[in-house]
Amino acid sequence: MSDAPLVDPSIDPLSDPCTHAEQHLQEYLDGLLTTTVTATVEAHLATCAHCAQAYAFEQRFRSYVRFCCGGTGSETRCREEFREQLVRRCRDVGIT
Ligand SMILES: [Zn+2]
Repeated sequence: MSDAPLVDPSIDPLSDPCTHAEQHLQEYLDGLLTTTVTATVEAHLATCAHCAQAYAFEQRFRSYVRFCCGGTGSETRCREEFREQLVRRCRDVGIT
């Protein structure tokens, strides 16, 4: 169990398309999938409301994170800004 790969290559997109799409969603959003897998995931998202919803949520979540990072997408800057925001919030509510 502990040494199981993150993405199980044995999952067949034909017999279990939802699990397949779900497992590749992050890579799909990152554009890391091969064209074949991308096409498979896209085809499934077009036909499955459940997975399309999960995908829409991930997209919104990612754009919100980018928005919170000032649109830079930089992890370091994101952490700094997040920390600054936290400090400001804490000051606002009188924690510091
Ligand atoms: Zn599905």
